[in-house]
Amino acid sequence: MSDSASDVVIAGAGPYGLSTAAYLQNIGLDVRVIGEPMRFWDENMPLGMYLKSEPAASSLGAPQAGMRFTDRHPGWRVGHPIPLETFVEYGRWFAAEAVSGTEDAQVVNVEQRGAGGYRVTLSSGETIAARAVVVAVGVGPFAHLPDQLAGMPSWLVSHSSAHSDLGLFAGKEVAVVGAGQSALETAVLLADAGARPHLIARRRVLDWNTVPEENRPLRSRLLEGPRSGLGTGYRTWVWAERPGLVRYLPERTRQRIVRETLPPAGAWWLRDRLDERIRVSTGRRLAKAVEQDDGIALTTTDHDGRRLVTEVEHVIAATGFVPDLERLALLSPELRGRIATRLGAPVLSRDFEASTPGLYFAGLAAAYTFGPVMRFVHGSDFAARRIAHHIVRRTPRVRVPVGRPTGLLEPGASQR
Ligand SMILES: Cc1cc2nc3c(=O)[nH]c(=O)nc-3n(C[C@H](O)[C@H](O)[C@H](O)COP(=O)(O)OP(=O)(O)OC[C@H]3O[C@@H](n4cnc5c(N)ncnc54)[C@H](O)[C@@H]3O)c2cc1C
Repeated sequence: MSDSASDVVIAGAGPYGLSTAAYLQNIGLDVRVIGEPMRFWDENMPLGMYLKSEPAASSLGAPQAGMRFTDRHPGWRVGHPIPLETFVEYGRWFAAEAVSGTEDAQVVNVEQRGAGGYRVTLSSGETIAARAVVVAVGVGPFAHLPDQLAGMPSWLVSHSSAHSDLGLFAGKEVAVVGAGQSALETAVLLADAGARPHLIARRRVLDWNTVPEENRPLRSRLLEGPRSGLGTGYRTWVWAERPGLVRYLPERTRQRIVRETLPPAGAWWLRDRLDERIRVSTGRRLAKAVEQDDGIALTTTDHDGRRLVTEVEHVIAATGFVPDLERLALLSPELRGRIATRLGAPVLSRDFEASTPGLYFAGLAAAYTFGPVMRFVHGSDFAARRIAHHIVRRTPRVRVPVGRPTGLLEPGASQR
């Protein structure tokens, strides 16, 4: 298929890709958005799941008014968990209303062009010459398996993000490794589906979030700090609402806050559902996994070094996502080699731009730079605004007043 040209190609149509597209298209740029809207949420999260983020912290970013989750669902306030399918529907509604056209394809290769810009190859075979590329491929490529489980066959070991329908495990003995919301909810949903889950967690005690209060007394607001998209507290408010400041913190501090803000804990509404149907072993570290005829034997050790062997038919590792540029196979090896990284993640400018001009990273890949909010939908508005503003300033035929947020331009106003 022949070459075409575009101002911007966005790889991925999840919350970050769609938000960035909404801002860029609003100022009249020619943007190709590659990916089916909300595919990861639809295909890689378990049926029956609820979001842990509150309705007010679950909005995609758009320059137009009326596009927030709570605009779509007025009346959903603090303490109203959002079902997965409601959020997928919201994301697709957002795509239909705020983004003109997404393409159900994959970006299979991105390489630098000699004269500046990038050549992007799609799964359809089409190549696009683009001035700028936004990599918004989400968490999927970064699914993390502990070393002990890596390399095991997929019928024995899988990552939690490999499943939408946990009904496949009905009647089976399944170990779930992890202690965060994903592990706890996977264990509960497995039990609901008729499986026999065994939760294995490294921490000695499972942590649970408390029920958020809708109307907090002034005293509690002063003492504990304001509520934000990441929870309650003064510092948490900064990480959630001013991620631009996080970038100026020392690298070790940024790493720590990414690690420690919202540490593994279950949502308050899940607590009662983790009942006697689920065997729970806490304080156990995974030491070894051995394939057997009809399953897998997991050896774990407790804090005193005592060993325990657990035999199950399958292991689901709900062990999170770790950004690693080397796993982004859509970037050509040459391009990957040119991008400056720290701890496996791209080093980004204040505008989310990598060391190769015109290449931007949004979402989890930006978390070591802009902090923990980049792990959540709540960060999408900030990322989208910054990226759009920067691309627009760099695009010759588009004139935006210096320092003016792109979102202030009229919806649909073309600057050409
Ligand atoms: C089980 C689970 C529960 C979660 N719950 C919450 C929650 O309650 N609240 C919250 O804020 N966050 C939650 N998160 C985190 C959530 O994943 C991120 O906040 C959010 O998805 C980030 O949006 P994104 O656009 O970066 O990524 P994604 O939503 O993953 O979107 C990226 C998209 O890119 C597509 N893609 C990948 N590669 C390519 C390619 N080469 N070409 C084209 N498209 C590609 C993917 O299919 C995907 O649809 C949860 C994560 C998990 C795993």
